[in-house]
Amino acid sequence: MATSWARLADAALYRRGESITAWARAISVGFALVALFVLWGSPRTRAVPALLTGLTYIAFALGARNWLRGHPESRRWLSVVHDTVDAAGVGLGAAFSGGMESPIWLLLYAHVVAVSVRGGLGYALTMGVLDALVVAGLSQIRPSHPEGLLHTLSLLFCAFTGGTTSSYLHQIQRRLFEANRDLSGMNEQLRETAGLARRMEDEAREHLRREKDAYRRLEELDRLRNQYLGNVSHEFRTPLTVIRGYGEHLMNEGPPPDGSLSDVMRVMVESCDQLIEMVDTLIEISRIEQEGERSLEVRLLDLRELVTSSVDPLRLRAARKGVELALDLPEGPLSIRGDPSLLDHLVRKLVDNALKYSPPGGKVVVRGFSEPEGGTLEVEDWGIGISAEHIPRIFDKFYMVDGGINRRRRGAGVGLYLAREIVRLHKGAIDVRSRPGAGTVFSVRLPGGAPGPSSPEARL
Ligand code: ADP
Repeated sequence: MATSWARLADAALYRRGESITAWARAISVGFALVALFVLWGSPRTRAVPALLTGLTYIAFALGARNWLRGHPESRRWLSVVHDTVDAAGVGLGAAFSGGMESPIWLLLYAHVVAVSVRGGLGYALTMGVLDALVVAGLSQIRPSHPEGLLHTLSLLFCAFTGGTTSSYLHQIQRRLFEANRDLSGMNEQLRETAGLARRMEDEAREHLRREKDAYRRLEELDRLRNQYLGNVSHEFRTPLTVIRGYGEHLMNEGPPPDGSLSDVMRVMVESCDQLIEMVDTLIEISRIEQEGERSLEVRLLDLRELVTSSVDPLRLRAARKGVELALDLPEGPLSIRGDPSLLDHLVRKLVDNALKYSPPGGKVVVRGFSEPEGGTLEVEDWGIGISAEHIPRIFDKFYMVDGGINRRRRGAGVGLYLAREIVRLHKGAIDVRSRPGAGTVFSVRLPGGAPGPSSPEARL
């Protein structure tokens, strides 16, 4: 049946089948009209009813086509009606133009072939019987045609062979369709698998990239660690050499006669302080890294007192270098909560750096002011400054802007790392603003509440 085509074939193929059928009908109508024209004058022709039959058929075919456009769901039964009307139209046309003597009835062969191809065996036999009945009827029109029976049988035979072949073709088509559907399913699965494989490949590539990054970071850390070891050794060796040199001199030569013993002793004490400072820094780092928040001993503190007492030991160094060291603190108390020993370390480190990187004649200002949620400490200098590319890394462990073996200033690249860890433990924030040649400002925000889960998150 026509609908089995519709189900099996794709829409474009089905439309082509419909258009072939429409053309075949148009050609058949043309053939019938020409035949009628030729037989017009024959005494056995009843021209007017024949012409009316033709015109009625044309009107029906056009009407059916139009109806189908608005009612595509009626395609199935309309197709059956159309095929039946085809056979009836041919029969009537032939009956009005000489029965079996009119060539019009030959169109029944075309009809039987067309319905067989479209509809399969069952439909072909049904329509074949209809066509055979029409021929049988025509052969009874006087004078009766002797070959009528033969054509009746031939039509049935055509219907049978055409229908069988078409059923067979439909079966093949169905199998092809099913195979095609299976292939589409497999294709879809393949596409999904390919998508999955692509995603896995992307993930693997991303994984590899991250591993490479981690490896590169490890290499960089290793390089910094080696540099750090060199620097630390150097930092220890210099004051030790000074202490040993002066000690040896005193041992061999005795105290200097000109009363400069106190100068010698001062240099030795300063060298010892340097060593103690470095050892303290290393101890604090290892304590913080091991104990984390457990290393904190939090108390309520006045930031002004803390700053004053932490800065005092550095005044002598500032004076000797010719750097002015000024405090800018509020009148009233500035309450914060924190570990006094760690915060003392933090202030000293920031001020020590400011002095270290300021030229003689420079100035360092330490400010403190209160904030709604705690207090802020600022250390500003007008020294060498830090260029933008180094700023994101100065808080990294072992990182030094001028870390080469011939560096001009002492240091081991762990001071700001410790400062950042201290601030992190206090759930505060540390920031730096700097311009090369113009100076640097470090600002540290410390919360007023006790550090803990309810405190604001550190912004590092
Ligand atoms: P270091 O022991 O080398 O001073 P830090 O961790 O304290 O190590 O500092 C890291 C780097 O940041 C230093 O090598 C220095 O170049 C830069 N730096 C820190 N403070 C200042 C500052 N006030 N002015 C200019 N550069 C600074």
